[in-house]
Amino acid sequence: MYLFKIDAYIATFRSQPPLLRPEDMHFNLPNTFSFWNQRSLESFDSFSAAEPIERSQTTIFDLMHSPFGDKEMSPFVMFPEDIQIGIYSMQSRIWEFVEQARDSDVDDATVLTIRRLLVQQLDYWKRQLDGFSTYDMDDPTAVETRPARAVPDRYYWGLEDHSQPGWKNVVLARPNALIFDTMHLYHLFSIHIYTDVRNLCRLASNQDSEGDIGQRRISAAIKWASTDNARHALLHASSILQLNKRDAHAFGGVAAEPLTLMALYAGALVVWAYGRFSQTRCLEKHCGETTFPEVDGKWVETWGFASMDGLPLCQCVMDELVERFAGFVPGGPGGWAYHVGKLIARP
Ligand SMILES: [Zn+2]
Repeated sequence: MYLFKIDAYIATFRSQPPLLRPEDMHFNLPNTFSFWNQRSLESFDSFSAAEPIERSQTTIFDLMHSPFGDKEMSPFVMFPEDIQIGIYSMQSRIWEFVEQARDSDVDDATVLTIRRLLVQQLDYWKRQLDGFSTYDMDDPTAVETRPARAVPDRYYWGLEDHSQPGWKNVVLARPNALIFDTMHLYHLFSIHIYTDVRNLCRLASNQDSEGDIGQRRISAAIKWASTDNARHALLHASSILQLNKRDAHAFGGVAAEPLTLMALYAGALVVWAYGRFSQTRCLEKHCGETTFPEVDGKWVETWGFASMDGLPLCQCVMDELVERFAGFVPGGPGGWAYHVGKLIARP
């Protein structure tokens, strides 16, 4: 299972197909964090007896195929780490789709059908994830008031000393970090479904920007910026930014996980590309004065002027908006991690 995750993780960074396929994953769901992190054999026994029985009766293959099943799996079976595996299991299909969408021989109707299917499956995992609202670590009653679908925190107990104040915060940080990372994974994969990230990366870094190849890249980006695909991608970019504004402080304020870095970079790239290639007219001085509605699901359908994080989606302020994404990257816009992010996000 861990090999599958590492394989999918590296494949995501390199935008290559993973070596291990979901079809190979006929292993049971792994034991919980607390099961593997006990101080003594005595407590190991008691935690072993308390392991959710469904986990030993469900294979990873079953989990990965749950979006195709007749009914959703019992919410008590699925942990945030399982949802992460479920989203990773889509990596090879998304990678194949990106190649197909880029291939001019594949007709638009086929691309549209596959894209819809992938979005439906990703949304299935997102719905599972939405069942776990992040524990509020500043609220001492958070454990008592947690939503019904949250996994009991005892499954995330580790080696922390339970006689010390604040031990629960240490525990709750574990599922919180998993939820935070998995949200980024969801938005990152969604951006790949709606955007040819490689093309935009090449344009952003001025690679192959001359001659016929450069013209084709620019034409593709202009076409993309006028479609609802671009608006869907911008909505995911906006979600990445808002997610970091809301929760990044709990994880040190900047992206520590390369996956989060990739999502931040992909979000910034989409914003940059829309500002650069959208044919929407700049309102000049009014851009800084007028308040437009924030990007949302309705805007994706209706289009028109919109703002992201209070700034209009216009070329004249796009650099400022991109900097806001970079603010969550270690070292900021000029930091090494920002450039590493650029590098690894390039398919
Ligand atoms: Zn403007």
